[in-house]
Amino acid sequence: MSMKGKLITLEGIDGSGKSTITARLNSNPDFSDFIFTREPTTGWIGEAVDRAIHSDTDNLAELLLFTADHAEHISKLILPALESGKNVISDRYSGSRYAYQAVTLEGRFPDPMEWIQGIHKGWTVVPDLTILFDIDPEIAVERCGNRGDKTKFEKIGFLESVRENYLRLAKQDPERFVVICTDKNIDDIESDVLDIILSFLR
Ligand code: ADP
Repeated sequence: MSMKGKLITLEGIDGSGKSTITARLNSNPDFSDFIFTREPTTGWIGEAVDRAIHSDTDNLAELLLFTADHAEHISKLILPALESGKNVISDRYSGSRYAYQAVTLEGRFPDPMEWIQGIHKGWTVVPDLTILFDIDPEIAVERCGNRGDKTKFEKIGFLESVRENYLRLAKQDPERFVVICTDKNIDDIESDVLDIILSFLR
């Protein structure tokens, strides 16, 4: 029997409820042995990503910063945790890159999503389970209305394309993805997520 931990990622557009659910899982005693993390990270490369997100940075440069942050995250946190047998939950991960940057890089490559996935091949760690928080962007943006740090990504038309990309990813890999509707109250979403994770680990 392998001692390796499992990597579980939460994906979905801004305002779909990922951070709220992550915080709840983090305070649930059943998850006290889990490592909680996120992308972009809080390290210096993650800070550089944050700068790119909040400025008029070239979209390819931005993708490469995100990808550098992902590499650092994997080597410094994800792999050591999994190898020591810990389960990891990441609020956003590679799926965010495939879904978001495939929109920002439209027109720059014939199939931006395939191109972005290509530069991850051979070194990224593919999650064992990805829960996709699916929601109508209008509702999600409405929820984020008061968010002070609105980013250039938080526009409805843009998020509609991101949502389509996420659904395309889920179709590519139906064994790994579980898609949940998050247009409902937070307690119900939490109970869906708990069921999915606990039954996956059983
Ligand atoms: P994400 O991390 O996916 O961007 P958040 O968890 O930060 O989303 O949620 C965005 C905003 O919507 C927050 O203000 C949060 O309190 C609110 N919110 C999250 N889930 C729900 C829900 N199920 N119903 C109503 N409001 C919600």
